[in-house]
Amino acid sequence: MNNFPAFIDLKDRKVIIAGGGEEARRKARLYVAAGAHLSIIAPVIDAGLAAEFSEHASERVHMITATPAALDFEGAVIAVIADADEAQAAVYAKWARNAGALVNVVDQPALCDFTTPSIIDRGQVTIAISTDGAAPVLGQQLRAKVEALAPARLGNLAAFAGSFRDAVKATISADQRRSFWTDVFRGPIAHRFLQGDETGAREAMIDAVNRPQAERRDGVVHIVGAGPGDPELLTLKAVRLLQDADVILHDRLVSKEILDFARRDADRIYVGKAKADHAVPQEEIEARLISLAREGKNVVRLKGGDPFVFGRGGEELDALRKAGVAAFVTPGVTAATGCAASAGMALTHRDHSQAVTFVTGHARGEAEPDLNWSALAALEHTLVIYMGVSKASVIAGNLLDAGRRAATPVAIIENGSRPDQRIVKGALADLGALVDGHLIKGPAVLVVGEVAALADDTLCETALQTERLSA
Ligand code: SAH
Repeated sequence: MNNFPAFIDLKDRKVIIAGGGEEARRKARLYVAAGAHLSIIAPVIDAGLAAEFSEHASERVHMITATPAALDFEGAVIAVIADADEAQAAVYAKWARNAGALVNVVDQPALCDFTTPSIIDRGQVTIAISTDGAAPVLGQQLRAKVEALAPARLGNLAAFAGSFRDAVKATISADQRRSFWTDVFRGPIAHRFLQGDETGAREAMIDAVNRPQAERRDGVVHIVGAGPGDPELLTLKAVRLLQDADVILHDRLVSKEILDFARRDADRIYVGKAKADHAVPQEEIEARLISLAREGKNVVRLKGGDPFVFGRGGEELDALRKAGVAAFVTPGVTAATGCAASAGMALTHRDHSQAVTFVTGHARGEAEPDLNWSALAALEHTLVIYMGVSKASVIAGNLLDAGRRAATPVAIIENGSRPDQRIVKGALADLGALVDGHLIKGPAVLVVGEVAALADDTLCETALQTERLSA
């Protein structure tokens, strides 16, 4: 550490900026946000700068069109020198320092008492990143990443916690306080608050403060959508929850790259199900989620795609609610939209299809999918069939019998959004043959309807390529 970070209270204290250009403007924004009394002084002040702070002018921001003099720096806690002339800047820096101010000279680290960090401002929570002035752009990139992980209402959460500080001090012994707060911030109370349920969070907090110590730990289960495979399709919230989890129960379709977002010491439990090979029965998964939460664990139940689209997320949520366990759902990009995006094919399109229906091609046991084929065929819009690979020819036959045209375009997208993605295009009458001929194993979605013709040809596989693949 070359520089020591400290947070300075600038409310109603004098800060001076010597300079009237773009750099001065950027710095002025920061100091105004911190509540300082700001003097901006320069022989020429840009019209843009003047306009931006005009509403604060006179009370908070004082603009002086003049060449700075030594006296102008008197009483300043901080002086920022944003003057392009290096020799001049050095003179101002000296005057400012003599007046007792901490000095920052833009782009001249050697003349600085302090550097300005990249700042993440969440009200009561401020995060500052420094590269000692050596690589500000790197600092900004890092800031963008942290910014993404810090929930928007983090500052409000800190204020909420602050309002309980005295109550916690009065009821919880000093040696227990740290773990109490850890549970609050990682558990259901903070989550409730961040979701916007302030009343629920307050009630839960009062309840937690008043409960005997032995019963105090509350676990939580987050049912989280992992998207179709590309880790970049995770939501920011999914990433944050993964990094917070003690235990992750995941499916077969969740890739390793996604699990890599978890803390290194988090337990990962595979409860995947391949079709007809139910690794862990559903009831057992539910029972496990409940018992882990009751142990006080922060549990993530991670599912491919979206948990509420053919994901049995609804059943798990019901079971958790019945057991009185706090449970929350975070959506994910479902296979249909993920695959459509990577195939360059809209699911609805003003010229081709006014609606889209997601159906499952999978039925219990070996039975055939029990769907209202004539209704589906009559609508003539886009159909996305999940889990339909092994029944592709049966499905096509049913749609044709129900009156859908043999030449209706179809697209098959396997491993959508993953590096091994494959896309095959053709006509409805050939759907079964396309699946067999191209050795489609899944996971894949079958898209039936005019929009399927829009799938990007340059991404589609030809029969010849499949032959090479199988050789
Ligand atoms: N909840 C998931 C669906 C689970 S059912 C979601 O919202 O996406 C499993 C089926 O999803 C697979 O049989 C396949 O039809 C589809 N699927 C999941 N991931 C896929 C992917 N990357 N590419 C194509 N299809 C996928």
